[in-house]
Amino acid sequence: MQEISLSQITIDKISYPFADPGQIELAVLRLDKIHPLISGNKWFKLQYYLNEAMAQKKDTILTFGGAWSNHIIAVAAACHLKGIRSIGIIRGEAPGMLSATLQEAMALGMQLFFISRSDYAIKKIPPELSNADFYLVSEGGYGQPGAAGAAKITDHVTPGYYTHICCAVGTGTMMAGLLNASDEQQSVIGIPVMKNNTDLDPAIRQLLENKTKPFLLLHDYHFGGYAKYTPALLHFMNDFYQHTSIPSDFVYTGKLFYAVADLMKKEFFPKGSRILVIHSGGLRGNASLRKGTLIF
Ligand SMILES: *Cc1c(COP(=O)(O)O)cnc(C)c1O
Repeated sequence: MQEISLSQITIDKISYPFADPGQIELAVLRLDKIHPLISGNKWFKLQYYLNEAMAQKKDTILTFGGAWSNHIIAVAAACHLKGIRSIGIIRGEAPGMLSATLQEAMALGMQLFFISRSDYAIKKIPPELSNADFYLVSEGGYGQPGAAGAAKITDHVTPGYYTHICCAVGTGTMMAGLLNASDEQQSVIGIPVMKNNTDLDPAIRQLLENKTKPFLLLHDYHFGGYAKYTPALLHFMNDFYQHTSIPSDFVYTGKLFYAVADLMKKEFFPKGSRILVIHSGGLRGNASLRKGTLIF
């Protein structure tokens, strides 16, 4: 399998929808380019979990996710690269046909167990695994080691240069890492992809080194909720690609770029702002859309 290639990361300056380079600088950190399967923030978030698992001499990593989870495929691929076994506990009964994500995870050696939604809600380990010895990575890689790994994202950016850092938010682990790595003058803005997730604020704060550090979550760009989308979002993603050559996904980065474009239109960012948008990867998720929906 292809190695992770952090040297592929670029910072692409864009002028979408209309950024006037003299007034506002808008740039995208392309974490989507590091690997076709373990793309974006997932590799960063997994780093320290993998190290801890190896330090504890565990030969298996167990984690949780849904049928189209970027986290599941990233864990499967990262474990495959490191020569560690992986187990995925998947939400819901086994379907007649596995999703592309799960097929790829299996091809990478991940052992899959399907559990009911109610068992999944309490993260119940299936009885077959009661005697198994594994290192557990929580759903989405949420946790302090995940945030510490995500903080390394900023190694690829000039320290203190950007006035605003914008990212998509699932569990909030990446955002917490970015906050821990940013300085006082930088505003970190998160776009939650779930609807009305009021637990996010405390979940992020829990992972902060400075518990009183300010941050902003803008809850108006979920497009109906997690993995939900509208024709307007898909249209935006195509338009954004046409103007910038940057592909996005409908679960995370499409909503993020939409939000940033909308905020620019509303003159949310003061003149002189230098905005960095984190392209956290996740493009594989688009495979669940009907062919031809997206132009990339
Ligand atoms: C998982 C994921 C996120 C969310 O990261 P969290 O740390 O869970 O908030 C954002 N973008 C992409 C592309 C992802 O795959």
